[in-house]
Amino acid sequence: MEIVLAESLGFCMGVKRVVDMAYRALDKANSLPVVTLGPLIHNSQEIARLAKDGIAVADELTMPANGTVIIRAHGVAPQAYDELKARGLKIMDGTCPYVHYSQRKAAELYREGYTVIVVGDKNHPEISGILGYINNDAFVVKTVEEVQHLPQLDRIGTIAQTTISPKKYSAIIDALRQKARELKVCETICDATEENQRAIRDLSGEVDLLYVIGGRHSANSNKLVETGREKCPRTMLIETADEINPEDLRGASRIGVGAGASTPDWMIQQVVERLREIEKALANPR
Ligand code: SF4
Repeated sequence: MEIVLAESLGFCMGVKRVVDMAYRALDKANSLPVVTLGPLIHNSQEIARLAKDGIAVADELTMPANGTVIIRAHGVAPQAYDELKARGLKIMDGTCPYVHYSQRKAAELYREGYTVIVVGDKNHPEISGILGYINNDAFVVKTVEEVQHLPQLDRIGTIAQTTISPKKYSAIIDALRQKARELKVCETICDATEENQRAIRDLSGEVDLLYVIGGRHSANSNKLVETGREKCPRTMLIETADEINPEDLRGASRIGVGAGASTPDWMIQQVVERLREIEKALANPR
């Protein structure tokens, strides 16, 4: 049995970076608390590991009086930095460089007098952070239909949420052309999640069975499963290694493994180890 990993899987650069940053903060903490402002990642196993190691999740109410606070990859509004500083906390900024770029671009458009249109989910923390850089003075749209309801504008500048699909952004841009005399488009989509998709697409044509490790409620992981099933009907979503059923492996000689953007390396490793154990057990039945 051969186990083949997808060429790109698991954490993106931004998430890896902030998790490493949290552990560096812990090394230098001198017994003072280290907390993250909101969960660093949508993965309960990883959050539990961080908590066990001493990196807790905090919000405004549970924020400690001293120690270090880590800003997650989604970033925050500038006002949030000021509040944390005023509390006397040391801030380590894990905002993803791609998100920083979006924040800078939004501020630039605003300064230049454009009406800023942010394309994405208005409840997403990344969007709230960006809006903080432009006095919350922007329209947030998620669909072409929402664009139809915008008023007629003069000069529009657009920013995209880093994780939306390029296809969706492009459809919304097309619709916005009817809404303004001038349109300035900022390319702010990050292709980390697209890379995992591409890797699953490539791998799915080469394996008999494909496991995608990710949260059942993760849109990103479910999309990977959907993509995998186009060429490999035996594509399964698992949250942990314990969910692998040895019976499913019968007759499969090449097994692929991919993972959603919230899956840490150690969970991918556990899946590979479990597959190896099952392989041994199937080869040497008692
Ligand atoms: S912008 Fe891209 S690289 Fe950065 S955290 Fe988001 S998905 Fe990851």
